[in-house]
Amino acid sequence: MLKDNLKEVEKNIAQACEKAGRKREEVTLIAVSKTKPVSMLQEIYDEGIRTFGENKVQEMVEKYEEMPKDIKWHMIGHLQRNKVKYIVDKAVLIHSVDSYRLAEEINIQAKKHNVTVPILIEVNVAGEDTKFGVKPEETLQLAEEIAALENVRIEGLMTIAPFVEHPEDNRVHFRRLKQLSVDIASKNIDNVRMEILSMGMTNDYMVAIEEGATMVRVGTGIFGARNYGKAN
Ligand SMILES: *Cc1c(COP(=O)(O)O)cnc(C)c1O
Repeated sequence: MLKDNLKEVEKNIAQACEKAGRKREEVTLIAVSKTKPVSMLQEIYDEGIRTFGENKVQEMVEKYEEMPKDIKWHMIGHLQRNKVKYIVDKAVLIHSVDSYRLAEEINIQAKKHNVTVPILIEVNVAGEDTKFGVKPEETLQLAEEIAALENVRIEGLMTIAPFVEHPEDNRVHFRRLKQLSVDIASKNIDNVRMEILSMGMTNDYMVAIEEGATMVRVGTGIFGARNYGKAN
């Protein structure tokens, strides 16, 4: 069953890439497995998926321990500074950096582990009160500040678009994030790359790909609806 979901998502990604004149390899699918049991992750793993996204530190660490070691784990959720130490050597990319203080803590922990941690700056493109993320107009300044941290490397930008009925309604936000990344890239700041655009979820990843997403984060489309009633 999950296999069929995955096939459908893969088909849609290929279609969106073709429509946009992009190569399939330009887009990484992140299987967002939050709240789902490892048995389901394993099912997708057996289909060849090696890239998973989690939004809670403890859950990611537990699954990291239980699942095969060739998985690339992405931290996509809001991160508290006191929990950075648990994932700094486990996440291949932290998508949700929206303050200098958080980046600073990542830098401290990264130094301890003698690693450089790739991060994205999370941008609240639609200006929603309920969302984390820095304002578009403050993104460049934050990037410049974080660039000074030796063991953190900015790889690009991430956004969580509003929940909308019509995915087309989010096109304007994806376009804005893309433009922002082009603007920041043009400044040629040392230690700042704008290679990654993490945008698009189950509801709107095809539109996001058309607008330049290089990573899409798909949960429901692969694993089915989440049940928050119980443990999570
Ligand atoms: C849960 C989550 C997703 C996946 O959402 P779906 O709509 O289930 O695809 C993507 N990104 C972030 C940051 C999330 O927390």
